[in-house]
Amino acid sequence: MATPLHFVSSKVYPRLTGGRFNTVRVAFVLVTQLIYFGLPWLNWDGQQATRFDFDSMRLYLFGLTLLPQDFIYLAAALIVAALGLFLWTMLAGRLWCGFSCPQTVYTEIMIWIERWVEGPPNQRRKRDAAPWGAEKVLRKSTTQLLMAAFSLWTGLTLVGYFTPMRELAANLGAGDIGVWEALFALSYGGFTWLLAGHLREQVCKHMCPYARFQGAMFDRDTLLVAYDDKRGEPRGARRKQHAIIPIAAANVGRDDKPQGACVDCGLCVQVCPTGIDIREGLQYECIGCAACIDVCDEVMDKTGQARGLIRFSTQHAMAQQQPLPSLRQRPRALVYGGLLLGIVALSATGLALRVPFKVDILRDRAVMQRESNDGYIENVYNVRIMNTERDSRRYRLQVESAGLVRVEAPILQVAGDSVSSFNVALVADPAVLPSGSHTVGVRIVNLDDPSQVLHEEARLLMP
Ligand code: SF4
Ligand code: SF4
Repeated sequence: MATPLHFVSSKVYPRLTGGRFNTVRVAFVLVTQLIYFGLPWLNWDGQQATRFDFDSMRLYLFGLTLLPQDFIYLAAALIVAALGLFLWTMLAGRLWCGFSCPQTVYTEIMIWIERWVEGPPNQRRKRDAAPWGAEKVLRKSTTQLLMAAFSLWTGLTLVGYFTPMRELAANLGAGDIGVWEALFALSYGGFTWLLAGHLREQVCKHMCPYARFQGAMFDRDTLLVAYDDKRGEPRGARRKQHAIIPIAAANVGRDDKPQGACVDCGLCVQVCPTGIDIREGLQYECIGCAACIDVCDEVMDKTGQARGLIRFSTQHAMAQQQPLPSLRQRPRALVYGGLLLGIVALSATGLALRVPFKVDILRDRAVMQRESNDGYIENVYNVRIMNTERDSRRYRLQVESAGLVRVEAPILQVAGDSVSSFNVALVADPAVLPSGSHTVGVRIVNLDDPSQVLHEEARLLMP
């Protein structure tokens, strides 16, 4: 008999919890989705604020146009993301997983849908175990339809980061969406439905590569969700407090033996989205969502004990019952942080100083150098200018090498977001430049914004 896959055999029905970390988690879901679904609709300077155009290989980013030549900024962004992840994981462990990872966020949304249609966890569990009937079919199919509709919306939104969103919506309304766009939306939507709607916590436990290599970034000062076993054990149901029983009796179990703070209510296990018991110690399945902290704090409040039996802490702090270490005690964090800041500052400076046009000057090999009427020597070039701004721009070419006298056709106009080629002659003085090949300098100024200047070189032949 085939052995069933472990990760499809156990469904977790996490219980709903309130509390401060739950508020933060819900806020993260709302903010990240507002950004994800809203950004493709946002216009900037008359065009979509964020879009990558595959045809022209251009990235439009809030008025900035990045070309393949600007690959260095993409590389810098990837390095910053990788270093940021190292730093964040080392400091905060799996906080990313619990609060902002798309898998967690979409799973949370799918659970909201499920809870809305099928009721709280105990009802869902009972219905899942019951035989199929009209009510079960109706509720299950409604859940799946809503999940599929939401997933498709995520897929279409992703396409909107590549195809102009408003055009896509109009085409969709007219039933005229392209094949690739439809395939892309269906694939991404299908994965959202499968991973967040069905596999859920199993993705974090068995499929996510980040969970596997996190161990290498953790140290004993990394923040994690931990159960304070020194305070909590021995666990057990407490003896009912009575007016005539002194406060100290609260630490006494029903069998009159001394007892820790944990009343063994099991709520921390019931709210856990990955179905683990945090009291068993550090486990790689824990995604750091803090739901167990919220629910345990409520239990502590009800039983008149101090909060924080389960809390964010570190292995060091827990073992020595000390406060959390400061950043100054984490040299590795300071090194990562310094590197990160350095790369961000360099990239930001580069972007701020970046000139939004490119120029190539190539000598026209089909035309020989010739003598002009005034006795100077002309070389003809093909000048290619790429204007990455939205509006038309005028550029002036100026000579900047000794021996170069002038540029014929010095002012060139290029329409917005386009490339134009021009034939331009450089005129040189044979009295200064001897016979042979020379490298000469040309300065190109954007006349609409003279602070934008490029310096290019050209090969010039003298007879
Ligand atoms: S919620 Fe708190 S008190 Fe209840 S079992 Fe978990 S650790 Fe113990
Ligand atoms: S153990 Fe606590 S923090 Fe970890 S996943 Fe479960 S509920 Fe979230």
